[in-house]
Amino acid sequence: MAGNRTFTMIKPDAFEAGNTGAIFKMIEAAGFNIVAMKATRLTPELAGKFYAVHSERPFYKDLCAYMSSGPIVAAILEKANAVEDFRTLIGATNPAQAAEGTIRKIFAKSIEANAVHGSDSDENAAIEGNFFFNQAERVR
Ligand code: GDP
Repeated sequence: MAGNRTFTMIKPDAFEAGNTGAIFKMIEAAGFNIVAMKATRLTPELAGKFYAVHSERPFYKDLCAYMSSGPIVAAILEKANAVEDFRTLIGATNPAQAAEGTIRKIFAKSIEANAVHGSDSDENAAIEGNFFFNQAERVR
């Protein structure tokens, strides 16, 4: 059975552009409930840990610098089939390839500065949610 939680971040480009509210409006309209949420900022070291799975990829250094370049909003979201449905809502990694009406199509600036993060599996959703939030910070 598909899990019912996923993890997201509003990335620095979207936060800086003042699109956090508009993006969460789309997220809630799509049926996701907020379980935990906070505005915060990643150090380069924390960004490196969060994206450790990509450490061998050529864009890793740039990605860590970008993700620590400004504030972000981290959130745990709940909905049936959360991981898959959220990936559909945000669209392809590269906004040029993202479907019309998806969050990345509307708000992303580039393949790197692509407005939002969305977990790619139930396992990673749990790991990523635990990276930012303890139990006391969750409302359900
Ligand atoms: P996602 O699951 O759609 O976020 O994509 P990936 O897991 O493949 O990549 C993680 C993040 O790295 C993406 O969301 C982008 O911010 C960044 N990224 C992915 N591919 C590239 C690339 O080719 N160049 C650069 N500069 N950044 C990339």
